[in-house]
Amino acid sequence: MGIEFKRRIQQARIFDPKRGYEEKTLTLETRWDPLTKKTVRVLDLPIKKLEKPDMDEILKKGGDFPCPFCPDALEQATPCFSDDLIKGGRMRFGEVCVFPNRLPFDRYCAVAVLTKGHFVPLADFTEEMLFNGFSTACVFLRRLVEVDPTVRYFSVNWNYLPMSGGSIIHPHLQIIGGDLPTHYQGEMIQGGRGYHQQWGEVFWDELIAKEKELGERYIESVGNTVWLASYAPLGFADIMAVVKERTSLIDLTDQDLRDFAQGLLKVFQYFQDFNHCSFNLGLYSGEYGGDDSFWVNARMVTRRLLPPVGASDVSYFEKLHGESIGFKKPERLCEEKRGYF
Ligand SMILES: [Zn+2]
Repeated sequence: MGIEFKRRIQQARIFDPKRGYEEKTLTLETRWDPLTKKTVRVLDLPIKKLEKPDMDEILKKGGDFPCPFCPDALEQATPCFSDDLIKGGRMRFGEVCVFPNRLPFDRYCAVAVLTKGHFVPLADFTEEMLFNGFSTACVFLRRLVEVDPTVRYFSVNWNYLPMSGGSIIHPHLQIIGGDLPTHYQGEMIQGGRGYHQQWGEVFWDELIAKEKELGERYIESVGNTVWLASYAPLGFADIMAVVKERTSLIDLTDQDLRDFAQGLLKVFQYFQDFNHCSFNLGLYSGEYGGDDSFWVNARMVTRRLLPPVGASDVSYFEKLHGESIGFKKPERLCEEKRGYF
């Protein structure tokens, strides 16, 4: 077992005007991600429930321009793939529609609109909506590797609402695929390979076993998927899901995707109750055709604007120092989350 949960605790002194300039000790924790060794900082602020953002205001801003993903506009406003990639130009399943992204973040970059409904509050998502979306994304990826053997790295991603960087409110996933991984995906793949070489085991298998044994960040399992609070959080609430023994998104079965959708709904319920209204999600695949040292996993980070001026929750730390700041200890997040599974 080579899993190490490394941390360092430091203290800073201030003289607090709110307490007549009495001396106060502040605590800061640095944590090292057990796989990538990337450092993050954790400030455990005594925040339980966040202030609820004004959704009407957010939706009003989004209503200033016509939505290209609504059913009456989609056919005219969105691009098509070539017929030899996707017959008819767009892939459809239930209410899901997959078409090319106008912004080419990778050689293959697609959008999967999830529903006909323009705005879906977290509480209104259904297992069917999520299953249809993620399973259609996987069907699209299977088609990609069939037509283009150079495509070896892919992921399915989600920016939910503008606070997370989502420029269109209408719920949609983004699928990217190409011959190189993204930076973090590459770090995970290399980290998993290195771990396997050194310890002879799969990192994610050992991570699940260790987290289960410790019981501090292990939330619950849903079928083949295990939900954890990430040890080294990449944001306010960072939740991880690991799909056991699947190295690539291509390998996911319908049952895996149903399990994943059911877990996501439980996470959404928690987000809703704690006023986390926006998030980023990444569902990562190992190298297609590579070794078995990677297990498919997802990471979700909540996003928000900070009061009182509505500041971004991404600062010089994330942008220019490559470190994230978590404001709640993952162990506290895990305790809160458990009641939802
Ligand atoms: Zn719309």
